[in-house]
Amino acid sequence: MMQNDYTKREFLKLLGTGSLGIFFMSFYSFDDFMDDDFLLLTKDDEKYENYRNSFNKRINKLPKYIAVCKTDVAVKKAILFGTQKKLKIAIRSGGHSFEGFSNIDDGLLIHLGLMKNITWLKDNNVKLQPACLLQEIYDNFLPKKRIIPTGSCGTVGIGGLTLGGGYGFFSRKYGLTCDQLYRVKMIDYKGNTIDSDQDPDLLWACKGGGNGNFGVITELYFKTYAAPQSFSGYRLKFSNLTTEKFISVIKLWFKSTQNLPKEAFSAFVLNGKFLTILFTNYEANQTNFEKNFTELIAQANEYKPMKNRNLAAALKNYYGIKTPIYFKNASAGLYDGIEDIEAGLTKLFEKVTATRGTIYQINTLGGKINEVKTSDSAYPHRDINYLSELQTYWDSRKEEGKFLKAFEEIQQLLRSLGNNKQYRNYPDINFPEANSAYFGTNLARLQQLKKKYDPQNIFDYPQVIK
Ligand SMILES: Cc1cc2nc3c(=O)[nH]c(=O)nc-3n(C[C@H](O)[C@H](O)[C@H](O)COP(=O)(O)OP(=O)(O)OC[C@H]3O[C@@H](n4cnc5c(N)ncnc54)[C@H](O)[C@@H]3O)c2cc1C
Repeated sequence: MMQNDYTKREFLKLLGTGSLGIFFMSFYSFDDFMDDDFLLLTKDDEKYENYRNSFNKRINKLPKYIAVCKTDVAVKKAILFGTQKKLKIAIRSGGHSFEGFSNIDDGLLIHLGLMKNITWLKDNNVKLQPACLLQEIYDNFLPKKRIIPTGSCGTVGIGGLTLGGGYGFFSRKYGLTCDQLYRVKMIDYKGNTIDSDQDPDLLWACKGGGNGNFGVITELYFKTYAAPQSFSGYRLKFSNLTTEKFISVIKLWFKSTQNLPKEAFSAFVLNGKFLTILFTNYEANQTNFEKNFTELIAQANEYKPMKNRNLAAALKNYYGIKTPIYFKNASAGLYDGIEDIEAGLTKLFEKVTATRGTIYQINTLGGKINEVKTSDSAYPHRDINYLSELQTYWDSRKEEGKFLKAFEEIQQLLRSLGNNKQYRNYPDINFPEANSAYFGTNLARLQQLKKKYDPQNIFDYPQVIK
């Protein structure tokens, strides 16, 4: 595929670099990649669509340029190109932002999708480039018997996940993904590299507050942990729920999850009148684990334990869908316990079950996540035990309105119950006071750091820190 002449000429003039060449490549593939490190696309280029598209098909943004970067040098070139052209810049690693914050109308999209290097360092530390996908990390780490606590969905990028927090099966034991970071490198709006070893503010900000706000993070350094020997999953299913049964089961679930071991995780997933409860655990000795939820087992229509599985095989079960889909997902409140939603349970059940495709989920947090001080990372919700999320899925663009209306009604209900803390990695464009909801008392420091790293607000998206 040939770069159009206008783009090539303009680019060479602005940056004084060597030839861009003629590039052939397939989306998210290293095959046949250019011998240069940089690909600049406009709407006229054949590959523009592939790089523009994100995981959420609902999002339809049209950047003026897409700079596909393979190296830090390429990222610098792209940023300087953007600033000279006076363009706003959005950044993409894995492309899984719920609200398409990794794309921008009429601006420059810096696409890091090919920056996927994994470099092992001494003491089992590891340096990751931002577009390593979670399944690529597991594939590389597990044969070495190492893990970092990340999410479960295989196609999420480590860049966005870490910079907004990052939680999953291993977080109650080891903390959030961002808690494992000990160093980052960022290229700022002037094209300068900032190393958090020389600037600790940057590391603090990137622990939960770094998504698209300050510059392009190109290197993330993590400590890692010994992988557990095995992994067990326990799935309980409840069908044809009534309101009464829903209320009694959700109360029991909160009770059952209060004192789980740190190696355990649980999710409560209401999908129409069908409820799935999942427990996972990777303790070496799990003999008494089911005692935590014997009362729930007694009420379930179906119970399926899958014990002591090979870790890699078990994790693959949770990689999820890989191809783009139409959806709206958002954080639905961070809870201390059932008291945060108790007053609205009847209405919640009515509303979630009224529209097919709507899912209300609660996940356990707590454990090690809560042992970090609120002021020690940009992620602020250190006293919280549960994270809920609302999801809705549909098949074609014309169905969108109906699903979004039902979604917003449930959000209004949850807001009326006083839920105003949200998880930054599950954003919603419509959250009132969104950045206060994501960052709480840490917002003021993040705003100061925005002034320090990006005073002209070159890096931009609808909920950028200002
Ligand atoms: C199917 C699915 C499953 C998920 N599962 C989990 C889960 O188990 N646990 C969990 O915690 N979260 C989960 N998430 C949420 C996920 O953490 C966020 O969507 C995350 O931001 C995605 O990162 P990304 O790199 O794939 O996305 P992107 O869309 O590329 O980026 C997301 C945000 O980060 C910014 N960003 C990305 N890379 C950089 C960079 N290098 N420098 C600066 N800013 C950058 C972008 O500008 C954007 O604002 C899930 C999301 C989806 C869609």
